[in-house]
Amino acid sequence: MTLTFDIKPTTSPTSDQERAAKLANPGFGRVFTDHMAVVQYSQDKGWHSARVESRANFPLDPAAAVLHYAQEIFEGLKAYKRDDGGVNLFRPDANAKRFWNSAERMAMAQLPESVFIEAVEQLVRIDRAWIPGGEGSLYLRPFMIANEVFLGVKPSAEYIFAVIASPVGSYFKGGPAPVSIWVSENYTRAAVGGTGGVKCGGNYAASLKAQAEAIAQGCDQVVFLDAIERRYVEELGGMNVFFVFADGSLSTPPLGTILPGITRDSIIKLARDAGREVREEAYSIDQWRADAASGKLREAFACGTAAVISPIGKVRSTSGDVLINGGDAGPVAMGLRKQLVDIQYGRSPDPHNWIRDVK
Ligand SMILES: *Cc1c(COP(=O)(O)O)cnc(C)c1O
Repeated sequence: MTLTFDIKPTTSPTSDQERAAKLANPGFGRVFTDHMAVVQYSQDKGWHSARVESRANFPLDPAAAVLHYAQEIFEGLKAYKRDDGGVNLFRPDANAKRFWNSAERMAMAQLPESVFIEAVEQLVRIDRAWIPGGEGSLYLRPFMIANEVFLGVKPSAEYIFAVIASPVGSYFKGGPAPVSIWVSENYTRAAVGGTGGVKCGGNYAASLKAQAEAIAQGCDQVVFLDAIERRYVEELGGMNVFFVFADGSLSTPPLGTILPGITRDSIIKLARDAGREVREEAYSIDQWRADAASGKLREAFACGTAAVISPIGKVRSTSGDVLINGGDAGPVAMGLRKQLVDIQYGRSPDPHNWIRDVK
């Protein structure tokens, strides 16, 4: 399928001075670039009106389906500035494929992989001055909403796909600080047959109360257990989880009800490349506690695009606190993190062909 993007540069670009001020301290998700990419879909026209234009509000009818029945999916990936001034995307094809699968599960129109990647690349090209240097990056947020004007419950006949971009600083200044996590006993994230494996906004809406409970318990993040036995560790609100054992092996919860993270997949491959055994297997919260106490478990860490790898220093639940690796970042988590980040920034070889050079 060929769609030509109409490139319409903004007539009111941010001044160099203002952009520099924003890039000096971008934080996460509050600073945005000048443009957005948009592609529309309707049942009769298919995908059409592909364009890159000035970032602006969408005209949205109050009866647009997304506002009522939450037909919405999204992605998250980053553009990295290399030392030679070039720009890398990390596995955008994997994001495009996951987006395609998410659309299928949510009964939405499926955007061809090539159009997804083109939209992301065109936006990165026009807004490349917004990519921070150093350990910063440009966070890209492709998403799709149902915008048919109809209150009946059915898959929408119209969609808007868009990509917006937000410069972000290094997630952690001076290396990642270990996070504390709260084991949610009151709430679950996903059940078999549900949408746990899909990157949809609704999953996040349903996780916010549990995350608020974690904060109230003095923790950084919530960790969810499976919905049937309430025993097996699934994932954090927005990150996958890994365990590192004394014999050098790793384990991570199997796919199904968890989100198939691209960072998760990349870590599995890097660890196996290094000769480590990696098991995708169910691991219970009781086993986690027992293994932490016996010393069999050495490290635990969370992973996702935004923070790459966050060591888990403490697990808190109604039955008390468990420290992991004495509450400190462990060498396996930190080693994998460096390996991954070096590939993303083009500082080390890319044996799996994960990097796409944005020309
Ligand atoms: C996006 C996401 C992740 C991490 O996926 P990456 O592709 O590694 O960024 C993990 N869990 C949830 C619920 C997510 O939405």
